[in-house]
Amino acid sequence: MKKITLAASIMLALAGSAHAFDLGSMISAGTDALKAATLSDADVKALAAQSSAQMDKENKVAAPSSAYGKRLAKIVKGLDSEDGTKLNFKVYQTKDVNAFAMADGTVRVYSGLLDKMDDDQVRFVIGHEIGHVKLGHTKKAMQVAYGTSAARKAAAGSGNAAAAELSSSEIGGFAEAVVNAQFSQSQESDADAYGLDFLKRHNYKLDGGPSALRKLAELYGNDSSMLASHPAPGDRAVKLEKLIQTKYQ
Ligand SMILES: [Zn+2]
Repeated sequence: MKKITLAASIMLALAGSAHAFDLGSMISAGTDALKAATLSDADVKALAAQSSAQMDKENKVAAPSSAYGKRLAKIVKGLDSEDGTKLNFKVYQTKDVNAFAMADGTVRVYSGLLDKMDDDQVRFVIGHEIGHVKLGHTKKAMQVAYGTSAARKAAAGSGNAAAAELSSSEIGGFAEAVVNAQFSQSQESDADAYGLDFLKRHNYKLDGGPSALRKLAELYGNDSSMLASHPAPGDRAVKLEKLIQTKYQ
């Protein structure tokens, strides 16, 4: 009985506020009660593939023959898979200094990031983003985004939350919410460490890690960041430099 009451109050809260908030702000507001949505790894991969396809539709993808396309191909030459996931790479032509990865092996790098960083720095960012996927951070973000939209749908009377599927028009908002999800400081720190391991595994220069973070500090100061969620890049660079000295030498 208590459970039903709780669920009903969540539905009411959602029904009352859904018009005022997009998925992203609902997630950053920390709608903990909705984190209960569980998705299998297969669900996550399927949603990742749908989200990636939608993001590719909504963004200007640089042609493989363009300068940006060729540069990214050079940066990731020989990098076919990571930890059993086949990777696919594209450049979005937008001046944002950003990148993201998805569970289906999608990696997207924004041209604004390619403009600001050298090849080794870009490789670290790619490893860091893949880290968010492999460490389960994007899965958590997806469960929140999915729970939010499924519960909203149920609140609107279109069916039961658990069974609700996202329509193609909902996928866009869902994908944005996942790509823009706020990660915690410890998640960022773990993704940085993953990024360094990634550089090591693929025989890239470890210095790409701290130097990418120093670049961010230079561009945005030590308080803010590219990927708005990423805290204190200068502090993160110091942490990685220590890690390089202790773990890899
Ligand atoms: Zn991150």
